[in-house]
Amino acid sequence: MTRRYERTAIHEAAHAVVALAEARPFHEVVIERTEVSHGGLWGFTSRWGDDELVRVGIAGFMAHRMCITRWDPRLFEHARDDLGKVADFFRERPNPRLLRWNVEATHRCLLRQWNAVKALAYVLLKFRRVTYANAKNLAEAANRFPEKRSPEGRVDGWDPLVKHIEFRIRWPGGIEEAIATALASTTPKSPSGSSSGSDSPKL
Ligand SMILES: [Zn+2]
Repeated sequence: MTRRYERTAIHEAAHAVVALAEARPFHEVVIERTEVSHGGLWGFTSRWGDDELVRVGIAGFMAHRMCITRWDPRLFEHARDDLGKVADFFRERPNPRLLRWNVEATHRCLLRQWNAVKALAYVLLKFRRVTYANAKNLAEAANRFPEKRSPEGRVDGWDPLVKHIEFRIRWPGGIEEAIATALASTTPKSPSGSSSGSDSPKL
């Protein structure tokens, strides 16, 4: 599993497999090579406010990471929109522990269903698109297969993903906004030395 296009198939298959595990319907899962998209889960909807949106949303990124052996900044770039939607979800519903819980739950789901991820990715590479009904049949058949496949990569922990999402929850405008805010806050306020000394008057 080294070619970029295969990883795109794994990414989209993982969205689909987690959506199936969450019993969330979609129209079809598609891979396509365009300037702005690698494909997607067309017609997917989640229930309003339900964090199933988070698990389906991070599944593509996580499956891609599980195929390689180290963290690569391009991983985040490839899943920029997915992770932005996850950050939007938590910005509206602040809950620091729920993000990590969702990451771990999605990891477990992908490990359990790796046969289905691989099978669906294989079919996606061949046909480029798979309907919900076909994806469901395929995932169920693959999961019944007695020999369990494992991801090729190894992940010791998900801190870089959690930190990336936490950053984007805080800075929806990205690194530019964070830098601009930091620069604004370093504007000198008083010429008379430190304001953090222990003898400073408390306000
Ligand atoms: Zn995606």
